[in-house]
Amino acid sequence: MFSIVSQDAPVTRWFGHRARLSLPPAGVLKADGQAHAARTLWNLLHAWWQMMPREKRSLANADAAIRQARQDIGFLEVLPAQAAQAVLKTYVRAWQNCWGGRAGAPGFKGRFRTVMAVDIPQGRDLNITRVHRRWGMVNIPKVGRVRFRWTKDLPVGRHASSESRITGARLIKDALGWHIAFRVQAVEGRPEPHPGPEVGIDLGVTVPLALSDGGTYEHGAWLTKKEKARLLRLEQRAAQRKRHRRPGERTSRRLHRTYDQIAGLRAKAKRRALHWQHQTTTAIARTYGTVVVEALTLTSMVRSARGTVEEPGKNVAQKSGLNRSISREAWGRTVAMLAYKTARHGGTLVKVPAPGTSRRCSACGLTTPGSRESQAVFVCKNPDCGWSGNADYNAARNVLHLYRMGHALVPAAGRAVVRRAQRVKPAAARQAGISQHQAGEHSKSSSGSATPTQASSARSPACWLSGAPTRTPAPPARTPRTASSRC
Ligand SMILES: [Zn+2]
Repeated sequence: MFSIVSQDAPVTRWFGHRARLSLPPAGVLKADGQAHAARTLWNLLHAWWQMMPREKRSLANADAAIRQARQDIGFLEVLPAQAAQAVLKTYVRAWQNCWGGRAGAPGFKGRFRTVMAVDIPQGRDLNITRVHRRWGMVNIPKVGRVRFRWTKDLPVGRHASSESRITGARLIKDALGWHIAFRVQAVEGRPEPHPGPEVGIDLGVTVPLALSDGGTYEHGAWLTKKEKARLLRLEQRAAQRKRHRRPGERTSRRLHRTYDQIAGLRAKAKRRALHWQHQTTTAIARTYGTVVVEALTLTSMVRSARGTVEEPGKNVAQKSGLNRSISREAWGRTVAMLAYKTARHGGTLVKVPAPGTSRRCSACGLTTPGSRESQAVFVCKNPDCGWSGNADYNAARNVLHLYRMGHALVPAAGRAVVRRAQRVKPAAARQAGISQHQAGEHSKSSSGSATPTQASSARSPACWLSGAPTRTPAPPARTPRTASSRC
């Protein structure tokens, strides 16, 4: 047998690359000013959008309003015209995400809670050159020529072509200062199919990644003991300052400084976690041809156990601690990294249904109550089997077994193919529910409630009217997943 994959057909890959900018203090001030102007413009645009009657909310009108604002409001002129256009584009995209059920409605952006960012939508403005082994230079509109850290070969200068080039960039400020994120489009040869073995991976809290061949990937705490103690001290200090603030009083400079110090420590922890995730996922993608993971619904896994006022939940603090541990592991990011890295190495990432993988015995295939003795130990209670071993290893073997039995869910062969579960749009769900009702039983109540909902739904989204996020006004019944298909 010979493979039918065409080896030489090149593939276009789009990715981001983030580099640290070396801005002089004056440049930092200019970039800060641009970011504040961009945020102000967003807020003005949002206010304009909410105020306008629906038929007047068009791109052309919004564009005219932005031009007028740039003429009328002096400090907006520090923002380049292209960046102002990008704000409008991002704003419209935010509404589209809301209408698609992927995000809530956009709102106003606060001065201190928003990530400072400025867009440079056109790649040709950047004029990137490499000036040193470790440094490149980039043009930033209305700031000037700035050095940035060169850590990756970018398609610039004679390496650029109409297919391989930098299509734009975005300036982002984080705890370490200003960074530039390039949008890169590159044409690469299609990778050879990876000949490596198959592996199942169990994502866990005590052992972050357990492999079905017995290997594990582990990491220590992201912060040292000293750093953790400092973080706790800063958080206590911030809480105390906040408590002593009178109502209506502005946040003091001291409190802002404490907030910045907390953000700095958290950013450090996140950088360490990202570093570990990148190293681990690269090693896995290099070694294995087929990687199998569980399809976890993380949002439901980290749901609070608080319950309601009438029926308070049990072990609330314990569950919230577990939720924090789950969130800290950032499994979603690990899986996303695995998806694109396996694809780049010619391998595949496969997801299998998660239920039962940690409770079933991987030797006999039976789920016997009490087999999972503790977080770490699995002893099969089936009298004919009696297999015992590490619980995470057992789960990883189950994951691989499910794939071998043909239970793969989504062939996640790259980032573009990873489908995100579309939440059921309230209007669509109600219509689907109503039509099901009417087709099946002729109930009076459903037809009675049908008229107002149908009138309000149509194709226009519920969150279009008024800025208030109309978040799922209690759909009549939990519609099954199949109802989310196009109607
Ligand atoms: Zn067994």
